[in-house]
Amino acid sequence: MSQPTDTRPERSEKRPATDEITELAPGVLRSQLPVQLPGLGHVNCYMLQDGDGVALVDPGLPGEQAWQALVDRLKRADYSVGDVHTVIVTHSHYDHYGGAERLREEAGARIVGHRDLFNSMAPPDIDDDAEFIDIDGEVKIGRGETGFGRVTPWGTWSEPPTEVVEHWQKLGIGVGNDFPHAPRPDLALGDADQIMLAGRPWVAVHTPGHTADHLCLYDAENGLMLTGDHVLPTITPHISGFADGEAPLKKFMDSLQRMHDYSDVTLAMPAHGDPFTDLTGRADHICGHHLERLDEFRAAAAELETANVNAYMKHAFKERSWGSMAESETYAHLDHLRDHGELDTTWVNGLLHFTQPGL
Ligand SMILES: [Zn+2]
Repeated sequence: MSQPTDTRPERSEKRPATDEITELAPGVLRSQLPVQLPGLGHVNCYMLQDGDGVALVDPGLPGEQAWQALVDRLKRADYSVGDVHTVIVTHSHYDHYGGAERLREEAGARIVGHRDLFNSMAPPDIDDDAEFIDIDGEVKIGRGETGFGRVTPWGTWSEPPTEVVEHWQKLGIGVGNDFPHAPRPDLALGDADQIMLAGRPWVAVHTPGHTADHLCLYDAENGLMLTGDHVLPTITPHISGFADGEAPLKKFMDSLQRMHDYSDVTLAMPAHGDPFTDLTGRADHICGHHLERLDEFRAAAAELETANVNAYMKHAFKERSWGSMAESETYAHLDHLRDHGELDTTWVNGLLHFTQPGL
C-alpha cells in the first residue's frame, strides 16, 4: 500500500503475478504470488534453497486463492509444501505473512521475524459504545462498519477504505475480530542477528519506518539484500502516522540512510516489483521524496495558518488519494515538523490543529 513518487509509465510493483520462477543468485529464486491492492499486483515470495529444503520469504496473502498459488510456485521450483522448513516474514502486513501460519501447521516450518513482530492493523481494543469523530466530522460509535475503526492521535476516526474491506471479504479473509493476526515468530531476530539461509549467513537489518518491526536481510557473501517493503523499486512505501510507534517518519528516513552501510549490495530484492541494483540510490530517492514533502507541508502551514490534519491532507494530496491513508501519512509529516519545533499544535473542537509557532 503506497503512493507513487514519479511518473514512470510502468511500475513493476503493479504487474499481476506471473507463475515464473527466476534464479537471481546462487540458491535464491524469485516467485510471485497474486495480490490485488492499490498499486500492487503481486508479492514476491523468494525461495532460499539448501540441503534441507527451502526457506520462503513473505508467503503472500491469507486465504485459499493465495495458498493455491503458493503450492503451484513451490511445485514449479520442484518443491512441495513439506519441503518448507522456514518462513521469513519481513514485516507485519498481511500480504507478507498471510501464508505463514498454514506453513507452520502443514509443513512444520519455523517462522522467523523481528522480535517485535506485531500486527498494527489488528482490530483495536475499544469500547463498542465509545463515540468518535470520523474523517468528515461525523460521529461514529464503537468499531465502525469494518471492525477496524480506531481513534487517531489527531482526534479523528480512521477505518480502512471500503474497497479494501470488500476485497478482503472476496478473498475469504476475515474482517473485524476474525482478521488474521501476524504470527508469533519461533525464531525472533534483532538487529545484527545472523541466520543461515541458502547455506550461508544472512544478517538481520532492523529497518523501522514502513512498520516498526520491519526487517531486511543481508547476504554479505553475494552482495544481496532482501528489502521487503523498506525499499521498493518505483513506489514509496506508505508511512503510517500512528500505527507504528513514535516518530515513524524520522525512523524511516534513518533506516533509509542506513542502506549506505551496505553499499556493496549489488542486488536488492524487494517484496513487490523487480529486483534492482542501486539500493543506496533508490533509498536516497525515497528519502528525497519525504524531504520535498516536508517542504510542501512547511509551505502549506504558512498558507493555512491554523488547520487540522484533513485540511493539510487536502492541500498535499490529489483528490483521488484522499482518505485515511493519506491523512495518516500527512500526520506523520506534520508530527515530524512538530518534533523539530517547526510547528505547534492546538486542539479545536476535538481535532488536533497544526499551526506555525507564534501564531
Ligand atoms: Zn507489502
